[in-house]
Amino acid sequence: MCVKDVVVATLFSFFTFFSGAQIVVDDVGDGWKAKVDSALCMIEHTGPEYWDEVSTNCKKVTYWMGDFSTSVDSSVVISTHDMKLGSVCNIACAIIHESHHMEIKRLGIKMRECEEELECYVREGRFVDVVECREAWLVAFIYRSMMSYSEKCE
Ligand SMILES: [Zn+2]
Repeated sequence: MCVKDVVVATLFSFFTFFSGAQIVVDDVGDGWKAKVDSALCMIEHTGPEYWDEVSTNCKKVTYWMGDFSTSVDSSVVISTHDMKLGSVCNIACAIIHESHHMEIKRLGIKMRECEEELECYVREGRFVDVVECREAWLVAFIYRSMMSYSEKCE
């Protein structure tokens, strides 16, 4: 961990104190709650265009043993796979992605599954464009997913 990461991690834990209070984050040990809290802070401090959607739709963050993150009602369910990758930015992206699915459902917008997935990955892509912690593998994964779903939608 470089000095910059330590400063960023410290800032995010500081912000945790002030934010995310309305979203319940399950605490299962292993420092997962702290990672999710940091991800929520990252979203909140990236801008209201992201935070408003997340705080409106996501009331709880929990985990499951699957390979992919998903959502159930108003809960974002992060996979153990995503948690074990250990990237706060990736967790933030999962929350952004799943909250966008919830927003589409809440607004009653009807679209094909491939279009909805594409839309959610585009939103993740916009988010990683503006956050500073973006990891190359995460950006590559998001763009691969965008290309894959845009091909499926043709
Ligand atoms: Zn999705």
